[in-house]
Amino acid sequence: MLVSRALAEVAAYITPGISTLFLDNIAETFIRDNRAIPAFKGYNGFPKTLCTSVNDEVVHGIPSDYSLREGDIVSIDCGVVLNGWYGDSAYTFAVGEVTPQVKDLLRYTRDSLEEGVKAAISGNRVGDISFAVQNKAESGGFSVVRELVGHGIGKKLHEPPEVPNFGRKGSGPKMGKGLVICIEPMINLGRKETRQMSDGWTIKTADGKPSAHFEYAVAVDRNRADVLTTFEFIEQVLNKM
Ligand code: MG
Ligand code: MG
Repeated sequence: MLVSRALAEVAAYITPGISTLFLDNIAETFIRDNRAIPAFKGYNGFPKTLCTSVNDEVVHGIPSDYSLREGDIVSIDCGVVLNGWYGDSAYTFAVGEVTPQVKDLLRYTRDSLEEGVKAAISGNRVGDISFAVQNKAESGGFSVVRELVGHGIGKKLHEPPEVPNFGRKGSGPKMGKGLVICIEPMINLGRKETRQMSDGWTIKTADGKPSAHFEYAVAVDRNRADVLTTFEFIEQVLNKM
C-alpha cells in the first residue's frame, strides 16, 4: 500500500533537529507525486497530512515547528486515498537513543499489534482482537488507551466496526473473510487516562508519560489475516541509518 511507502519516505528524515512540519511536507509531496490524496488533510478540519505525536502525545498531534530531540519518540500516522480506497497506518519511531523503558514500550506496543493480527481471522469476534492486544500490552506492565479505537476502512477512512484495544474474548461483532479493519494499539507507559488539548485534536496522556502507537490495515481471512500495510519499507530505511 502507498501509505506504507509514505511512512518509509518520512522514516529517512527522522533525526534530532528535524521539525514535524518538515516531515509532513515530505509525506504530502510523496503522496501527491503518486497521484494519491492525503486522507487526513481536511478530515473533520484536520489541517495536515500526518498526525505527529511526540512523547506524551498519544495520537492526533498536529505537525508544527517543534524540532525532534534525541530521546524523543514520535508516532507518525498517515492516511491516503488512492482510486477511492483508503489506507491508514502508523509507526512510532525512536529519535536517536531512547531509554530502555521506552524501548520496551515500543516493543510491546508493536507486539500487541501483531497479537491482534493473529486474532483477526474469520469466525472470530472483534473482542478476540481486543483481548489479544490488551493481554500483550498489560503483560509488559503497560496500559491501554480506552478513548480511541481501531476501525473498519474501505471507501471511507472510518467504517464499522470499532476495534477497541481492550475487551473480552468472544465479545463484539463476528468477523467475516474480506472484512478490512485497522488495528491500532495506543499503549501508555504509565496510566491509561488521556486528556484532550485545546487545539481540539492532540490527545496526551494524563500523567505526562510517553505513549506509543502502531497501526496496520488488515483483511480478515480464514487462517491468517492479510496485512495490507507493512512496516517492511520503514525497516529497510531504519536499518540503513
Ligand atoms: Mg491511522
Ligand atoms: Mg486508523
